[in-house]
Amino acid sequence: MSENFHKTTLMNLKSQIMLYTVLPVLAIIILAGSFMTVTVRYVIDSISRSEALGSTELACSRVNDVISSYGENAMTVAGLEDVERFLLTAEDRDTIIDNAYFSYAMGELDSTVSREPESIERTWLVSAEYSGVAFSNSSDGWVARPDFTFSDFPFSESVNGSAKYFITDVYTSPISGQTVVSACAPVKDRRSGRVLGYFGTDIKLSGLREKISALPESSSDEICIVSSDGMIIYSKDLKLTYRSFSKLGIENVGAGKYRRGKTEIVGSSDSPDNCGWTVYALRDYSSARKTINAQTRLTIGTFMIVALMLVVTISVVSNKVVKPLQDYTKKINSIQFSGDKAGDDDFLEPGGCRELENFAVGFNALLTRNHEMMSQLRDMNIKSEKERRLYQTALQSSSDVVFEYDIDTDCLITYGSVFDPEVPKTTARSHEKFMSRLIACQGFEAKDPLSASRFFAGETNCEAIVARTGGGHRISWIEFTGTTVYSDARAVKVVGKISNIDDVISLRENASRDCFTGLYNKTATEKLISERLRKGGSHAMMIIDIDNFKNVNDVLGHDWGDNVIKDIASKISSLLGDGDIAGRIGGDEFMAFISGDNVRERIDGLCKALCDRIRHTYSDEKLGREVSISSSIGVAVAPDYGKNFKELYTSADIAMYISKTGGKDRFTVYSGQERTEYKGNRHE
Ligand code: GH3
Ligand code: MG
Repeated sequence: MSENFHKTTLMNLKSQIMLYTVLPVLAIIILAGSFMTVTVRYVIDSISRSEALGSTELACSRVNDVISSYGENAMTVAGLEDVERFLLTAEDRDTIIDNAYFSYAMGELDSTVSREPESIERTWLVSAEYSGVAFSNSSDGWVARPDFTFSDFPFSESVNGSAKYFITDVYTSPISGQTVVSACAPVKDRRSGRVLGYFGTDIKLSGLREKISALPESSSDEICIVSSDGMIIYSKDLKLTYRSFSKLGIENVGAGKYRRGKTEIVGSSDSPDNCGWTVYALRDYSSARKTINAQTRLTIGTFMIVALMLVVTISVVSNKVVKPLQDYTKKINSIQFSGDKAGDDDFLEPGGCRELENFAVGFNALLTRNHEMMSQLRDMNIKSEKERRLYQTALQSSSDVVFEYDIDTDCLITYGSVFDPEVPKTTARSHEKFMSRLIACQGFEAKDPLSASRFFAGETNCEAIVARTGGGHRISWIEFTGTTVYSDARAVKVVGKISNIDDVISLRENASRDCFTGLYNKTATEKLISERLRKGGSHAMMIIDIDNFKNVNDVLGHDWGDNVIKDIASKISSLLGDGDIAGRIGGDEFMAFISGDNVRERIDGLCKALCDRIRHTYSDEKLGREVSISSSIGVAVAPDYGKNFKELYTSADIAMYISKTGGKDRFTVYSGQERTEYKGNRHE
């Protein structure tokens, strides 16, 4: 938790509250208000429309009924056996309408069927107004069929009532001189609904008007029926003309609420299935007002209830969620996150809805935990600071260098300034390369290169790697001590320290030396020789005992004796090579150890040289005294006459004893025979 949480997260919380509560509520109120307005408007419009349309629909059906009744009557009285033959085809109808032949033919039929038979032959027409007789074509020409029963007609359903009549023409009959309305309806197959032809009838306009007026109707209706060519077929209210409808702005087909003078009316027009005639109807708005008012009240009432529920919901949400959340926000804002104040168990008082209660409890627990963690963190920081200082002090007062070797990047980082091994911060990609760079740059030479390589590969743990660095007079010894760091069971680093162990090496060296002569002491000699023997190969051990050394002490004094011992030691050293071992294993007893494939060849020469160099007469000119000494040497070859130090020593000692007993100042190479003659075991 930080200042960021303080300023950002909690501020966001405020905006979240705004976003998820206040804004949606406002949006709902606006939406609901708009919805109510639209609904009321829609209710008024739709009721007006339905009232108006009711009038036109009623008028339409009336007209249709009337025209249909003509057709029905005609069919009933006509009666035909083979109707299908006589139906007009759709194409015929169009042709007839186009050239006005249809109406002419109907008029002609009224008086005679024999005229123009070629044209009429395919046509079955009925004109109830004129004759009330159906005609059919037969071998006798057109014959009236008074026996026709309408129910027998296979297309009766289509013609009877449900058919929509087209008013195709309004004209003055050339026969009667009266205005006649031509109407026709499609005749459809009952099953498939396919149009087979058209059934037509001519109706006197006066008769049609009478029949329409005779039908029951609402007193408030004002109806006007207009043909497609603008002829008023029927108008209930003579004052109301087709033009007055146009004036009101009623579209050809439409419905709505209109104003005529001070009166509100609902009006509509309809053209049933585009049948060529239009019905205009007006109705007083007062009949619709009642319904409209009731619907409006219902809508507003519903809205009020919804609004009330919304207000209740908002207040509940506000009390149970928003207010507690705001309180929490304020309180959380006040937290300093110092770890002191936040440890209070009841920091947030649980309240509001259940989720907020849980939130408060959870948050309090989180704060307590945070408090504990911060305390722990502070303690850890203090501890870590102490340790850091200790470490720093230790590092400053130590000559050690702390190192961190990254196996993946092959980079060695060192900390510490007193001793700088000048290890390159290499970018080599493998530890082998790193090692080679160490060697190349520093004269670095690990005592055991294989172990060193494994050490930097992280394959060994807590192993000390001793190496020699530098060159010339600057040679020094360093020791790597480290621990491998793993990540997912994979070695990634080696961390540890690099120590200069020159002092240790020097101490070790001194401990192994005879302080008097500088040669290896008895223990170191035995240890070194044992190591050589363990490695195998050919070796030779020589035990060199000074003959009559007591005389030196006795004749020349003890100090002289000491110097003679030092002199002999330096003579032995000078005769041995780098790889040979020279040690002092007793008072006047020395040991030489040589190794290599040419050991046997070297033995004679070396022993002779030793005898020659040691053989010497020391004289004290002041006192005029002198003492001569020589050496008795016993040689044993390994592994033939001893595989370990003890065995080899025994063999060499026997040989040396033989040299002594044989007259001194000589060397004897042990050949195995001597063992039986040897009585003692000087080594043990
Ligand atoms: P041998 O020919 O049989 O070897 O007789 P030796 O006189 O050499 O006597 P031995 O080897 O038995 O004893 C060695 C003597 O060397 C004993 C001791 O007095 C003397 N000696 C041993 N160490 C020292 C030393 O550090 N300084 C002096 N001055 N004398 C030593
Ligand atoms: Mg001796």
